[in-house]
Amino acid sequence: MDRDLSIAITGTPGTGKTSLSKIFSSKQIKVISVKELAEELGFLGELDASDGSREIDIHRLSDEWEHNDSGMVVVEGHLSHFLDVDAIIILRCNPKILQNRLEKRGYSEQKVRANTEWELVSGLWSELLEFEIEAPVFEIDTSNKNPEEVYEEAIVWLQQEPIQGGLIENAEKAIDWLESKI
Ligand code: ADP
Repeated sequence: MDRDLSIAITGTPGTGKTSLSKIFSSKQIKVISVKELAEELGFLGELDASDGSREIDIHRLSDEWEHNDSGMVVVEGHLSHFLDVDAIIILRCNPKILQNRLEKRGYSEQKVRANTEWELVSGLWSELLEFEIEAPVFEIDTSNKNPEEVYEEAIVWLQQEPIQGGLIENAEKAIDWLESKI
């Protein structure tokens, strides 16, 4: 695909953003993480001694950053939906599978619980609705798909002209882990 398009890949940690991004990258599509963008533009805050992370001033980053290169760019990260992008892909994952993925990653019990609960209550959708995000949105369940299959699904959606994905109607039909058998 050679359209001028900026795409955010967002989702709870462990849903597969990095894995999907690697596939985009292998197809010669430019990929950058929110953290790298923040670093590049100087919106990375002080080091948090408790967990070694650095806070990102996402709202200032969002004000400053725009996609003005030609071609496609993918911005990945769990805050990427706050950026001024043309389309947003939200990755979801069954909380039980997610818990497993995060435990394997060596996250603390508290961090595993916080992230699993965020996914369980569809926290990301609440955020999109709260901030009235305008870009078209598409949700993909990664629970039982490999990253290639997730990529294929994403590409089919992105190939639409124009890209479909109204926030309200998609939020209404989004996965609700609390309602489904998990
Ligand atoms: P994120 O970037 O959202 O934190 P990662 O891409 O790092 O997530 O994936 C977290 C873990 O889940 C990794 O161990 C990865 O191998 C696994 N994983 C990612 N995507 C899938 C998928 N579609 N199917 C199965 N496992 C996956």
